[in-house]
Amino acid sequence: MGRDLVEHAVPGGHGEFPAARLRWDPDHRERTWSRLESQWDVVVVGGGITGAGVLRAAARLGLRAVLLEQEDFAWGASSRSTKLVHGGLRYLARGQVGVTRESVRERDALVREVPGLVAPLPVLLPLYDGQAARWLAYRSALGAYDALEGRLHRHAVDAQEVRLLVPPLRRRGLRGGLRYREAQTDDARLVLRVLREAVGAGGAALNAVRVAGLLRRDGRVCGVQVVDRLTGREAELEAAVVVNATGAWADRLRGQVGAPARMRPVRGSHLLLPEWRFPLAMAVNVVSPRDGRHVSVVPWEGATLVGTTDIDHGEVPDGEPCASADEVDYLLECLQGPFRSLELTAADVVSTWSGIRPVVSSGAVASWDESRGHAVWEEEGLLTAAGGKLTTFRVLARDVLAAAAPHLPTPGRAPAPAGPPPGVQPAGRLGARFGAEAGAVLAAAHEEDREFVAATPTTWAEVRWSLRCEAVNSLQDLMLRRTRLGLLLPFGGAEVLDRVGALCAEELGWDASRWARERSAYAARIRASHSVPPREAAQPADGGRVPAPA
Ligand SMILES: Cc1cc2nc3c(=O)[nH]c(=O)nc-3n(C[C@H](O)[C@H](O)[C@H](O)COP(=O)(O)OP(=O)(O)OC[C@H]3O[C@@H](n4cnc5c(N)ncnc54)[C@H](O)[C@@H]3O)c2cc1C
Repeated sequence: MGRDLVEHAVPGGHGEFPAARLRWDPDHRERTWSRLESQWDVVVVGGGITGAGVLRAAARLGLRAVLLEQEDFAWGASSRSTKLVHGGLRYLARGQVGVTRESVRERDALVREVPGLVAPLPVLLPLYDGQAARWLAYRSALGAYDALEGRLHRHAVDAQEVRLLVPPLRRRGLRGGLRYREAQTDDARLVLRVLREAVGAGGAALNAVRVAGLLRRDGRVCGVQVVDRLTGREAELEAAVVVNATGAWADRLRGQVGAPARMRPVRGSHLLLPEWRFPLAMAVNVVSPRDGRHVSVVPWEGATLVGTTDIDHGEVPDGEPCASADEVDYLLECLQGPFRSLELTAADVVSTWSGIRPVVSSGAVASWDESRGHAVWEEEGLLTAAGGKLTTFRVLARDVLAAAAPHLPTPGRAPAPAGPPPGVQPAGRLGARFGAEAGAVLAAAHEEDREFVAATPTTWAEVRWSLRCEAVNSLQDLMLRRTRLGLLLPFGGAEVLDRVGALCAEELGWDASRWARERSAYAARIRASHSVPPREAAQPADGGRVPAPA
């Protein structure tokens, strides 16, 4: 195995995360289900980054904690973000200093805690003739950024330097730019990593289990009723604390205790373009010619992603959101000024994805003026963790456990250590994605798994490991969240599906009819949620916007 894939492999994994214990296979699912109907300290509803963070924090305190996700881990916003771990310059520009300060601190902490999975990302803000006001606004915002970081940086670069940094940028009228630093991640893998660390610390987590109702005693929430979506069986769990970490869906559970709606579901969409059409060595912030919003253009996993939009979605969907034709046009328009020479069109788009932000409504007119801060509410014993960002999940988890503390027993055993000390994580791609389990991923790989999957940085070793150990219930789980092959390869990775099918048969025992069903459901999902919507489809011209709240 090349040094780029993993260095310092630890056969069998780090002592704290024995691979056998973390094998999320059907046996593990049965064992976990069989102990569900007992008394828990914490039941977490929702398997996005918020739920994963709460589960890990609770498990590390030695609490009996279980997480239940109705679809798949990271199925919601947490696999559909722009994948930035960032302070958020644009929040600072809108005066959200608290959110930015917290985010900058968390960004730097995550780069240290999960190096490689959260990696530094240089960003350029190009400036053209007639943008002096913008230059001044962003220079002063970056000054404030430096103050929050406690470090001074040289941000201003001249036009010549900008041309060297980002050669495809339009040269006419280019005055220079501002350079700064953020970080980026693979959001779904971050959720998985946090979840597996939570399970390694004694927590339990099940996907495809829906919380259908809340149990109540003396007017307080004291547990949940659940349905196993794979088998239809049902169970009731009692808990000292139920945490509602259902993101944009939070008002649904809150409605069951009579709490008024407070969430504002805001849709954001992205495009992914191939690197050979849109090569970038650093992220670039561009401005929408339609409304002046900033849109990020980011090199990610050997491709270039563009996003995001910011549109009131109205009702939260039961199914998966998708980009509208108008959003695709909006994002392409953002590229047409600064990257005109590349002549990018919808035909270049490899995939799209859309997510619903769990924004706490303050009544702001424009959705992008709403704060990206988080809130924790206790309503009749139900603790809701709402809002926030991927970047700040650890802070939200701490706030949830602080609010839960009065209802929790003193942990019966010593808190688990907070994870391997910095530097113990094996280096390289597998180390970044699988942490201390990288050695086990490598040990499970067959000789031929050492190849990359088509033109992506993903190896077949990762695909095999995910199938064997990461609770994959469907082809969609594998292609869209455990790996990102469905987004990175054209047509959802149709070119590699035969080999994926052979691995599914080997690792999961799927027969020909199961594979045919999975493949057809997956193809339908790619068409509906990850392709450029056909222009002739009935699409509202406003991209599905609904009126903003008064
Ligand atoms: C377009 C977009 C771009 C973004 N970009 C960034 C970014 O670059 N950086 C950043 O820091 N943040 C970003 N964010 C914000 C970030 O992605 C979200 O704040 C975060 O992912 C929310 O996580 P969550 O766990 O609260 O919600 P989700 O990830 O949505 O998870 C909620 C989960 O609850 C489950 N659920 C719902 N009801 C039930 C039930 N009854 N039973 C069981 N499970 C249930 C859902 O299936 C879902 O998986 C972005 C968000 C969007 C939408």
